[in-house]
Amino acid sequence: MPELPEVESISRSLDALVRGRRIAAAELLRQRLAPDVTFDGFAATLRDRTINFVHRRGKHILFDLTGDTTLIVHLRMSGRFSLLPAERENPKFTHAQFHLDGGDRLVFDDQRHFGLMKIVPTAQLFESKELAKLAPEPFSDEFSTGYFCGVLKASKKPLKELLLDQTRVCGVGNIYASEAMFAAGIHPGIRAEVVSKPRAARLREAVIAVLREAVDFAATLPVDPENLEGSYFSGSDDPKWYVYDRENEPCRNCNSPIIRIKQAGRSTYFCRICQRR
Ligand SMILES: [Zn+2]
Repeated sequence: MPELPEVESISRSLDALVRGRRIAAAELLRQRLAPDVTFDGFAATLRDRTINFVHRRGKHILFDLTGDTTLIVHLRMSGRFSLLPAERENPKFTHAQFHLDGGDRLVFDDQRHFGLMKIVPTAQLFESKELAKLAPEPFSDEFSTGYFCGVLKASKKPLKELLLDQTRVCGVGNIYASEAMFAAGIHPGIRAEVVSKPRAARLREAVIAVLREAVDFAATLPVDPENLEGSYFSGSDDPKWYVYDRENEPCRNCNSPIIRIKQAGRSTYFCRICQRR
């Protein structure tokens, strides 16, 4: 599943590719992709709107359209966008397509069928169910040391599980949770409320740093309109993770083998020497 840096990268690429373009026609091809709207409603609401810009909140891609309209998209497991020339066929699992002025089209395909789209008035965007409860953006001033320490103090969950709670800490997924806890030298199983203030402050900086590094790396990659996902940091041939997906491989810091455990059904990777409770 794409994490925040990948979604940031995809929304930036989309913005570069389709900002200012007019949607001549929009087609919903699979009802469950946009359960709140009919096929006809989807087409009628989006037709003839111009894409002002594309941005992001959490892992939601937001198409800001003319006429006080925003299209919210969550890629979930396998949703993908591509911008295809008129003559190119759609991918097999195409669930929506947007015919743009000029003849090319923006296509959304989704092999695993978990993607979601929703159309909302832009004026009420941040009150929408999808966005209202999200924690502050990790790169914003609101994600302060005070905020982060407060969130940790108020939780009895294991630290790793808290980091994945998007209503408390926005944008950290499974990969960057492991990487940030390693960078801060904190054990993933420690109860969040007992993490000391200085360690919490270090962890907050680590969260920001690992996300920032991934966003910056993605920004260096070329944009391929037909493969917007191809430049995933996590999908690169040689990701430089310190602990993620490195079970039994030597810690880059101390050489002891990286441990994998399950927390809330998902793998966590850590070094038992470098990360203390
Ligand atoms: Zn180590």
